[in-house]
Amino acid sequence: MPALPDPALRAAPPAPADAALVALADRCVQCGLCLPHCPTYRLDQTEAESPRGRIAYIKAVAQGGLAPTLAGDLHLDHCLGCRRCEPVCPAGVSYGELLVGARAAQAARHAPAPALRAAGWLLARPPLLGRLVDLQRAVGAWLPAALRPRLPPAPPAVEMPAPPAVAKAEVAVFVGCIADRYESGTRAGLARLLAAAGIVVALPEGQGCCGAAAAHAGDPATGGRLAAAHPPALAGRARGLCLGPRWQGSLARRRAGAAPVEDALAALDRLGDQLRWRPAHRRVALHLPCTQRSVVRSESALRRLLQRIPGLDLVELPDTGCCGAAGLHQLAEPARADALRAPVLQALAESGATELLSANIGCRLHLATGTIMPVRHPIDFLAEHLA
Ligand code: SF4
Ligand code: SF4
Repeated sequence: MPALPDPALRAAPPAPADAALVALADRCVQCGLCLPHCPTYRLDQTEAESPRGRIAYIKAVAQGGLAPTLAGDLHLDHCLGCRRCEPVCPAGVSYGELLVGARAAQAARHAPAPALRAAGWLLARPPLLGRLVDLQRAVGAWLPAALRPRLPPAPPAVEMPAPPAVAKAEVAVFVGCIADRYESGTRAGLARLLAAAGIVVALPEGQGCCGAAAAHAGDPATGGRLAAAHPPALAGRARGLCLGPRWQGSLARRRAGAAPVEDALAALDRLGDQLRWRPAHRRVALHLPCTQRSVVRSESALRRLLQRIPGLDLVELPDTGCCGAAGLHQLAEPARADALRAPVLQALAESGATELLSANIGCRLHLATGTIMPVRHPIDFLAEHLA
């Protein structure tokens, strides 16, 4: 669902100059090297749906020389925040930072769509979100198709395993908001993998949403407040681990003096020599989320870990661009999200694999509603093959 058209926007005067946004946008030299890497440009083939086009619009509005337009704001809404444009930019444009600032200015001009506001409100309240996810598991199949949420049912909860008999170290694991219900098995799997190396997993109380979805949707104040709530929850811990690359990007950026937070896959990679594996003897497909490629960059660690499993026939899906999940984009723009997902699903169908691995919960939920194949976190698979 696109952002609500606001009739008042048509007559909006140019905004006052925003020096910070202009300075960020000014770094763009308009070379266009980012265009072929942008999933929305690949989908629409128009300048307005490219990083360069969005930067030009953001800059013109931020300078006060252009009144914001509905069309310009809609192209901004379509941005996936995947940041694939960043690593390929020779001028070092901080597109992610620019997008968060531009979306905040946009949200001040007109409120996001009600569905987005409702989703952001729920994500900031994990206990209530968890009860709704439980309700969906219980009655979702009985709902008419039009009322069913675009989410697969959450799996039953899995108990955490016993800690290792001799503990060498402890790590705190970030639970997340919607992942609280969807990833209990993955957290238990991570605890078993770490226990094999003598490391205890703690799940500190008082955790919640990392704030990434709020910042992505144009509410950096709420995003910052939610992310800042985590240093206390992780305080006193030597190290924090995240199961999702988007969380790690969000928490690592905003923590202040708290435990270092890193991707659990990178930590497991360093422990790889201490772990023993059972053979797999089957073909498994690997999807690499945008946040893993462009933000956390743990894809090499993941490949090394999976290569350790004897007999595994791993097929890495070709990079067809963002799968369309992109935080709340899959809720806000379901038709565009499905169009972006289609080449991923086609590559999956042609791969001959019997299951799909992806480290990002948003990607997994979005991909799982388009295939009957099991879609799991790579840690689920690794824990299953621990000898
Ligand atoms: S963040 Fe992704 S969708 Fe947005 S402009 Fe960059 S590459 Fe395109
Ligand atoms: S690659 Fe960088 S400098 Fe070139 S158009 Fe894209 S954002 Fe601008």
